[in-house]
Amino acid sequence: MKQILVIAEIFAGQIRPITWELVTAARKIKNSPGLKQLSPTIQIIVPADNPALLSEKIAKQTGIDVIGLQIPELKNYTSEIYIYCLEQLIKKIDPSHVLAAHTSQGQDFAPGLALGLNAVAISGVNGIRSDENGLIYSRPVFNNTRNQMLRPASNRPVTLTLMPGTFKPDERKDGEPGRVDIRKIPFAPAVCGKEHIQHCRTVKKIFEDQTLEEAKVIIAAGRGIKEKEELKSILKFAQCFPTAAVGASRPLVDMNWLGYQHQIGITGATVAPKLYIACGISGSSQHLAGIKDAEFVVSINKNPQAPIFRHSDVCIIADIIEFIGTFLKKQEI
Ligand SMILES: Cc1cc2nc3c(=O)[nH]c(=O)nc-3n(C[C@H](O)[C@H](O)[C@H](O)COP(=O)(O)OP(=O)(O)OC[C@H]3O[C@@H](n4cnc5c(N)ncnc54)[C@H](O)[C@@H]3O)c2cc1C
Repeated sequence: MKQILVIAEIFAGQIRPITWELVTAARKIKNSPGLKQLSPTIQIIVPADNPALLSEKIAKQTGIDVIGLQIPELKNYTSEIYIYCLEQLIKKIDPSHVLAAHTSQGQDFAPGLALGLNAVAISGVNGIRSDENGLIYSRPVFNNTRNQMLRPASNRPVTLTLMPGTFKPDERKDGEPGRVDIRKIPFAPAVCGKEHIQHCRTVKKIFEDQTLEEAKVIIAAGRGIKEKEELKSILKFAQCFPTAAVGASRPLVDMNWLGYQHQIGITGATVAPKLYIACGISGSSQHLAGIKDAEFVVSINKNPQAPIFRHSDVCIIADIIEFIGTFLKKQEI
């Protein structure tokens, strides 16, 4: 019985939300027709200097068994520590799949890990499906204008890095927590002959808001905003929601009114918030591709025929600046 391993994304002692998406993807692989009859099991690896609490939280949230990989040297992440220690552990397990996040951390260690495991590596996966010949993985290419479909052509383990915002986290029903097994693997640079990298420091980058991929609410501005100055209304509107991030259609980013990290769509971020409010966005296919997993879409547009209304749960026909002005006044009452 082969195992599907998920490598939890831990940063600054916290579990990153992409971890829950990795679990969704692992379940998708487990339940795919080709693998289902082999009854593979999922296990989650939590690499950290002190993984006990994090592991318990993940085991409780997912109901899946967790290996807390205690690496005393892992106060600060480096790819060498990760690759060396994960390789020691994973070689013994001999899994069919290893899933990591396509984040700065996952992109950094996953290819080296795949090499050490003699595994097939597919990065930036944004879709998993299967046909009569097994699993097929898709990944965006050519500046996100095409999706490339890939099928591993061997029985070697498959290492995947998965795009954040693509696999919706499963809702956890109450149930038994998974078991937690803490294993200690010290990093041994002398043995692996490495340690070329030493962590100096991590500097926090200040964004005006939180990242789009993690936001529960996104207020997105489009070309219905006529001047850069009017963006202040959008920012004020966003501040009415405690966990909101500001998104944008591409024209606003092309005009440098907002940075690229705000762009949503086929050449920007793929998002899956609980609430998406489109402010003066027409609803081009390129924009809609980025919000297909948004749970509830509200659109504010002065054109009743705007295509985005066909993809919205609530349609508000209004001038965006007037609407926000009225909304903010009502908030003050
Ligand atoms: C290869 C390629 C990749 C692309 N990638 C992306 C991408 O990743 N993301 C993306 O967003 N676009 C992308 N685009 C661009 C896309 O085709 C559209 O041009 C873009 O999404 C349009 O942005 P918009 O809806 O803000 O502007 P518009 O299409 O100009 O729409 C503005 C909307 O605002 C409404 N409006 C105007 N004034 C007001 C007002 N006062 N109050 C309320 N509503 C008002 C209008 O009725 C209209 O519906 C891409 C294009 C190409 C060719």
